[in-house]
Amino acid sequence: MGIKILQDECVGCTLCVGACPFDAIDMIDSKAVMNDNCTNCGACVDACNFGAIIKEESQMKQMDITQYKDVWVFAEQRDGQLMDVAAELLGEGRRLAEEVGCELSAVLLGEDVRDLTDELFAYGADKVYISEGEHLKQYTTDGYTKVLSKMVEEYKPEIVLFGATHIGRDLAPRVAARVDTGLTADCTKLEIDPEEKGLMQTRPAFGGNIMATIICPKHRPQMATVRPGVMERAEKSGKREDQELIEFKNDVTEEDIRIKILDVVKAGKASVNIVDSEVIVSGGRGLEKPEGFELLQTLADKLGGVVGASRAAVESEWIDHDHQVGQTGKTVRPELYIACGISGAIQHIAGMQGAKTIVAINKNPDAPIFKIADIGIVGDVYEVLPKLIDALEK
Ligand code: FAD
Ligand code: SF4
Repeated sequence: MGIKILQDECVGCTLCVGACPFDAIDMIDSKAVMNDNCTNCGACVDACNFGAIIKEESQMKQMDITQYKDVWVFAEQRDGQLMDVAAELLGEGRRLAEEVGCELSAVLLGEDVRDLTDELFAYGADKVYISEGEHLKQYTTDGYTKVLSKMVEEYKPEIVLFGATHIGRDLAPRVAARVDTGLTADCTKLEIDPEEKGLMQTRPAFGGNIMATIICPKHRPQMATVRPGVMERAEKSGKREDQELIEFKNDVTEEDIRIKILDVVKAGKASVNIVDSEVIVSGGRGLEKPEGFELLQTLADKLGGVVGASRAAVESEWIDHDHQVGQTGKTVRPELYIACGISGAIQHIAGMQGAKTIVAINKNPDAPIFKIADIGIVGDVYEVLPKLIDALEK
């Protein structure tokens, strides 16, 4: 697809120059000429009264989407350990498969990872596709893309879900490009359109100010990445008779992989694991000073929980980024979330709205956090928190 200026039709009126939001049209010898700023947005096409600017549509490959069926979950493993997000995607995948009326499968790549298939069956996969080999021991973009793309081409799944982990974010777009389909990254909600049965993929857009729902009507599979911690994990159950293990022989060779892994250096362990905690006491700019987090830590200790934070608190350098909850921090679903001096911006709420019980302490009765709080306390954190701690001590 591209924008073309028909030089013979151009009368040099300059209407398109003003219409272009990207300053992409120059007038040279009284003729409009496109420069490198052009984004193909098409605004100039409508602006030209002389039909001198046209948008050339590329011939989209027609795809017979009726051949595609089943929901697939990429079951990410590292060092033979299944990542938690695989269980979360299997929980979500089951719900989607039931709505579409199809089967749920897990796809497992690696070396000597067969032991994990029992776990995937326990999480409810109807089928597990496994492909093993020495060149799949460590994740590489080339190796995993080659195998997964071939599996997609052969078995034609209708939906493929990945965790939005470092690996999922690298692999999913490569596979999507290889199999000629679309991908929605970082989804926070997945639903099935009741009429078309297509996947409606919702994610924050424009800096989190709106939620966009994206569909992929003409291509298959419909692919999405989902951030860890967003979906509810599948419950484990016993093995069923009808579950099937399908082996996929791969032909990945050393030559296929353009990078060489010389060493794997593990990052230092995060100082806190807020994602798995049942109780989170979170602080925001309303704490006014870093010492406020000591008070929060006291309350968190009393409740057997951990301390979280808003981005404003992290950016004020009162607490480390490991504690940040929200769109650019962690997504959490604790039993209890206590928000102290946090206004409730959409980007913060995106990371904690799945909490079972939300308590908000804020001195502004109109703070948006009260809209989603189960219990709201209007007051100064430095007055309310000591009273809460005292009450718990008694
Ligand atoms: P404020 O909005 O300043 O709120 C402070 C609150 O404290 C106010 O409601 C005030 O009434 C109350 N208060 C003040 N003093 C007291 C007191 N003594 N006692 C009780 N209450 C008091 N934010 C996140 O949190 N997480 C993210 O992951 C995140 N990602 C973002 C991504 C993008 C692309 C963008 C654009 C923004 C992101 N933000 C994120 C920032 C977000 O928009 C807000 O700016 C941020 O959440 C505000 O933090 P806050 O609630 O602590 O501060
Ligand atoms: Fe400018 Fe958009 Fe026209 Fe390109 S297509 S020249 S960016 S108005």
